[in-house]
Formats: sequence, C-alpha cells, structure tokens
Amino acid sequence: MNVFKKILALIRKDSKYENESRRILVMLRWFYLVFLCYLLFFQLLMFLGESHSFSWIGAVSMVVVCVSLMCTYYYRIKTNLLINAVIQLVWIVSSVYLYGWDSGVQHFLFALMALVYFSLYDRLSVKIVITVLLFLLRLGMYFFCKVHTPVVTLSSQFVMILQVCNSLFLFLQLGILFGTFSSNIESAEKKLVEYNKRLEQQASTDPLTGLWNRRTMLNCIRQFQEENPEALYVVAMGDIDHFKRFNDQYGHDCGDAVLVWLAKMFHDVLQGRGKYCRWGGEEFVFFFPFMNGDEANAIISELWVNVNRTAFVWNDVSEHITMTFGLEESDYRSDLDSLIKKVDEKLYMGKERGRNRIIY
Ligand code: GH3
Ligand code: MG
Ligand code: MG
Repeated sequence: MNVFKKILALIRKDSKYENESRRILVMLRWFYLVFLCYLLFFQLLMFLGESHSFSWIGAVSMVVVCVSLMCTYYYRIKTNLLINAVIQLVWIVSSVYLYGWDSGVQHFLFALMALVYFSLYDRLSVKIVITVLLFLLRLGMYFFCKVHTPVVTLSSQFVMILQVCNSLFLFLQLGILFGTFSSNIESAEKKLVEYNKRLEQQASTDPLTGLWNRRTMLNCIRQFQEENPEALYVVAMGDIDHFKRFNDQYGHDCGDAVLVWLAKMFHDVLQGRGKYCRWGGEEFVFFFPFMNGDEANAIISELWVNVNRTAFVWNDVSEHITMTFGLEESDYRSDLDSLIKKVDEKLYMGKERGRNRIIY
C-alpha cells in the first residue's frame, strides 16, 4: 500500500519549473506507463507466436519510452510534448511499415491530433497546419500500404488480437487526455467563478468594516423602488460626533477600530431589520424598506441608545462615542437624491443643535 502511494506520488510529482501545468506532466506519465504495458504485451505476443526477428525494435522502444518518462521530471512541458509527439509518430509510421494497415496503429494519429489541440497554446493556424500534415501522413501511409506488402506478415488471429489491443490502448490514451483536459476546464471555471465572486465582494463592500459601500446601498434602494413603487420606506444617516478630535487624540488606528466596532453594533442591534452601509468617512446610511418613519425611528433610537451606553474599548482606550442621526420617510414624490439630501440636511441640523441626537 505504501509502495503504491509512493508510486502515485511520483507520477503526480510537480514540475520543477514555475508556472508549468502539473496535469499535463501527469498525463504524459500515464501515457508512457500505459504505452510501456502495451509494448510489453505486444512483445510477448510476438515472442510467443509470430516473429522474433524484430524483437530488438520492441526492446529499443521500451528503453526510449522509459527515457521519455524520466524526461518529464527534468524538462519543460513543451519539450516533453515534442518528445511524446516524435515517439508516437515514429512508432505509428514504423508499425504501419512493418505490420501493414491492418495493424490499426494509424488510428493513433487521432490521439496525437487531440493532444496537439488541447496542449499546444499556439495559434489556431499552427494547429490547422499540423492537422493537415497528420492527414497527409495518414493518406500517404494508406497508399504506401496499398502498393507495398508489410515487412512482417501477420496471421489473421494475430491481427485480431492486435486490433483489440490497439483499440484498448487508443481508448485509454484518449480517456487520459480528455479526462485531464476536461477537469482542467472544470477547475479553471471554478476558479473563475470564485474570482468573480471575490471581485464582486470587493466592489460592493467597504474593506475596513465589511459593510456595503455607497454604490451597493444606492443600487439596493433603487431596485426596491422599481419593484415596489407604492411602498413606504425610510432612509437615515448617522455621523460620528467629533470624530476628527477622536482621531487626533487616540490616533487613526483607534479611529478605524471605532468604525469596525460600530459596524458590529449595527449588526447586533438591527438584527436584519434594515440595511446599512458605510456611506463614506464616518457616515453611515440606513435603509428601512416597508416601514414608516415611526417604526424606523424606534429602531434608530434603539441604536442611538446602545451607542451611547456602550463604552468603546480598544487597547488602553475606553471612550464613549456619540452619533447624530437624520431620518426621513419616503413621500412618493421625491426621487432618491432629494430624499438623501433631506436626510443630510436633518443630520446637519442635529449637529447644529448640539449633536448626539436624532432629527426626525
Ligand atoms: P462632526 O461632529 O461635526 O461630525 O465632527 P467630525 O470631526 O466628526 O467631522 P469632520 O467631517 O470634520 O471629520 C470627519 C473625520 O472623520 C475626519 C477624518 O479624520 C475622520 N475619518 C474619515 N474616514 C476615516 C477612516 O476611515 N478612519 C479614521 N480613523 N478616521 C476617518
Ligand atoms: Mg462626524
Ligand atoms: Mg462627517
């Protein structure tokens, strides 16, 4: 079991070069291992029945495949793909030459073509040229076989075994290839979805507090208005009192901690009874859908009391923070911008009247 795990780990070993796809290397290693089994089986068959004269070719092929397998640990992917393509081509051409068209080895040109399309990150024109060349090679081999008899004449029984063996190997090769690249696409798609989610999150929230930003709040209210043109709602704005003074006294980091602390308090007090965002600096906007001014005022009052009552504690600092709020109910006629302007005016009014209050 341990040996099996070690072998698997060896097959899955990453490239020693940066930015190289491990999957392609692993795929090539599986290719070579399956190919090695195939060659072994082929040699065994030849040895048992048909011909001993070309067994040195089999031995050389196996050595070449083993060396190619080793190359996957030392060279870059491009080099390995080239080695693989050359080996396959030599093997296909020599097999067809030796054993004739009936050997069925020419079908491996399809696997080679698939490999070119999936693993070469070159221009499409390069792939098309390679396709044409492979097609011409197949055609050439076909007509060659029409004219020349194979070097080794195989019995019909052996041809049958060879066909089965080749089909199996071809399907295995294609299976490894498609399996590798389909999971490549899947994982790339998954990464893209996660990346998009992260981007969306970054674009819609404030990095310090994790609250929605102004853009997300405006979108939310606009969408609500569109979907519920007749519905009541309330917008409130809260601003920390004398925050500049606080920053000057305790430092910007401590000020940042206040913002984070407040964001948590909004969450704890509101408990899903409204939406809130960091509007900018030390200002927050609250949105209460399907509520009238009195209902929203009750919630904001609850929040105001909590902010007042709870001491902000951070390192050695223990301070009481106060906030001033402006609150306005929607009136069907005003658009969002003028509603927010009214809320802002009320907030300003609250500051004028001595701060630490709600103007409704
Ligand atoms: P007022 O009671 O009139 O609102 O006084 P204030 O000092 O809070 O108002 P002012 O608009 O003069 O200053 C706001 C301060 O908020 C200025 C700035 O230092 C601080 N501030 C804005 N954004 C941040 C932030 O992200 N972190 C920290 N620590 N401070 C911030
Ligand atoms: Mg302020
Ligand atoms: Mg302000």
